[in-house]
Amino acid sequence: MSGLLFAGATLPDGTLSDILVRDGFVERIGSDLKADGCEVIDVGGLRVLPGLVDLHTHLREPGFEASETVLTGTQAAAAGGFTTVFAMANTSPVADNAGVVEQVLGRGIDSGYATVQPIGAVTVGLGGAELADLGSMATSRARVRVFSDDGKCVHDPLLMRRALEYVSTFGGVVAQHAQEPRLTSGSQMNEGAVSARLGLTGWPAVAEEAIIARDVLLAEYTNSRLHVCHLSTAGSVEIVRSAKAKGIKVTAEVTPHHLLLTDETASEYDARFKVNPPLRTNADVMALRQALADGTIDIVATDHAPHPSEHKECEWNDAAFGMVGLETALSIVQLAMVETGLLDWVGIARVMSHQPAVIGGVDDAAGVLAEGRIADLVFIDATSRSTLTTDDLAGKSINSPYLGMELPGRVVHTVRHGYFTQRDGVIVSADVVSRATRDYDNSHTGAGTEVTDG
Ligand SMILES: [Zn+2]
Repeated sequence: MSGLLFAGATLPDGTLSDILVRDGFVERIGSDLKADGCEVIDVGGLRVLPGLVDLHTHLREPGFEASETVLTGTQAAAAGGFTTVFAMANTSPVADNAGVVEQVLGRGIDSGYATVQPIGAVTVGLGGAELADLGSMATSRARVRVFSDDGKCVHDPLLMRRALEYVSTFGGVVAQHAQEPRLTSGSQMNEGAVSARLGLTGWPAVAEEAIIARDVLLAEYTNSRLHVCHLSTAGSVEIVRSAKAKGIKVTAEVTPHHLLLTDETASEYDARFKVNPPLRTNADVMALRQALADGTIDIVATDHAPHPSEHKECEWNDAAFGMVGLETALSIVQLAMVETGLLDWVGIARVMSHQPAVIGGVDDAAGVLAEGRIADLVFIDATSRSTLTTDDLAGKSINSPYLGMELPGRVVHTVRHGYFTQRDGVIVSADVVSRATRDYDNSHTGAGTEVTDG
């Protein structure tokens, strides 16, 4: 494999540097690098970050290929600068056994646009009644470390206890979708002034907070690791903050949309803004931003949730919950966190790449920009501003709440394992990418980058 010399990149800390990539790895980072036979790419004026890692993506395959597939979802990832995505288990069949998680893993390897790390279901069929065979998924080729019934809450406290106990035996983590089902029966949007005005069934903050409070206690009791998906309320932040202060092993994520949008967006009954958990109040948004800045919330995760148009362009009550997010995540976080002065680019690299890799147990292979590490890189033009159109959405679905909005930042190049998945803002063709990933795998057989046992 020939090399690539990226000349004049701006590193996360602001220093200018060249980056030499060879055989899929970052060989050198420094000034005035020379390398014979390498293609030189001028990246002057562009910021470089380690390839982004999303701990919470819905790729919809198998079962819901009208919404997204592993191929199109990882193309959306490449468009957004992501090089690793964790695929949620609420597929059909559900990823609750070794066979399905290995199938998803294999589809990811075939696609080559991103490393696809399957998440395993906590309960059989997401039924909430019986623990899935977590051990067989952990020891499968997919080496599952993150388990979640996301889309549904593991609401039975005994099952949650058992899951936490089980995953602690192999360093896994339970990622909880915190939604008390009895308190959210028929809920449509945040419970508050706006839901009252619109006459839509409310979704109280306490339905999220009650589960998180219970689960941090269970994590403490079992001395196991809890990860809280998509925190959406100021009260949830307070619970996580006090749990961390007590040394409880809890981590938390926030989505880009919960960092930017409020329940006021529902005023026009536009179902693009219908999402689970719901958009909350401005006070919640401010608390979430502060918590991400001070480390109470560890990471940003997209909760990329593609749906075909017929499930979103309908009455609010009938519409599906969820919005796509991979393509726009970095722009939204730049808008909410960087342009408000709450995080710098070192912080962005931490919350969108390094920490997600650590929580997901793939930090040996992802989330770090350094010599000797796998060359997963994203180059962005942070000074760019443009209006989002459907042309910018590389996935199969276009249910983005940001269409028509002017957003900052633009992903210019995405590099995975030393080859381009997106170049000059254009997604590289599938045959070129799959050939590149095969070349990489053939020349690194046994390197243990994608698949390691046990
Ligand atoms: Zn969820």
